[in-house]
Amino acid sequence: MRGAWQELASLLLPVACAGCGGRRGPLCGPCGAELTELRPRRVTPRAAPPGLPPVWAGGGYAGALRSVLLAHKERGALPLAEVLGRVLAAAVLAALAARPLPGVATSTPLLLVPVPSARAATARRGHDPLRRITLAAAGQLRASGRAVRMTPLLRQRRAVADQVGLDRAQRHANLDGALAAHSGRTGGPGRAGPPAPMVLVDDLLTTGASLAEAGRALRAGSDGHGPVVAAAVIATPLRHPIGGTRR
Ligand SMILES: [Zn+2]
Repeated sequence: MRGAWQELASLLLPVACAGCGGRRGPLCGPCGAELTELRPRRVTPRAAPPGLPPVWAGGGYAGALRSVLLAHKERGALPLAEVLGRVLAAAVLAALAARPLPGVATSTPLLLVPVPSARAATARRGHDPLRRITLAAAGQLRASGRAVRMTPLLRQRRAVADQVGLDRAQRHANLDGALAAHSGRTGGPGRAGPPAPMVLVDDLLTTGASLAEAGRALRAGSDGHGPVVAAAVIATPLRHPIGGTRR
């Protein structure tokens, strides 16, 4: 309900640019251009957790991209999912160009698997930001001729603490075993055909703990056929943690 109201309100009220606060919202020309000019890159957190798949990020935690991500995630600026989806789609393509997945060249649809949000965080925000961004990215990749689906294969198995303020070891312990794959949906044994190629996606890469745990859960649910690569909208160093995280 809140989502529907925000979408309606965004059509009726003049909005500031989410990138710079200027008048021509929801995203002005220069801020839009800043996002278009981003080039995804491979990112490796310092002391990356075991099992972290190779990750490509659309950009750093700075400038218009940071502001737009926060406006969408924490302030419910829902139309921005499209532009964030473009950034994520570019990161997915960069990941696949560098690390082609088995099966991705065939007609088997590529699955974009978002790291699941905690129910409490989704309820507080009134929407699931990563799911919207992933849907937008999948739509844009399909429009470019690729067979791609957003597939929420993962779920939270237990509650986790807020990751803000935790160091690397604490984040790892907080998330260890927290996720599980929905049974029978990962394309593992018992299902006809080869496992579908999967790219794990997240909005924000900090220590890599979330993506490593998501990769572990997917591999556990599909007899080892987990994702080979991951993509994130933003990579951020731990010393600049985001104000509000998923958890
Ligand atoms: Zn702007």
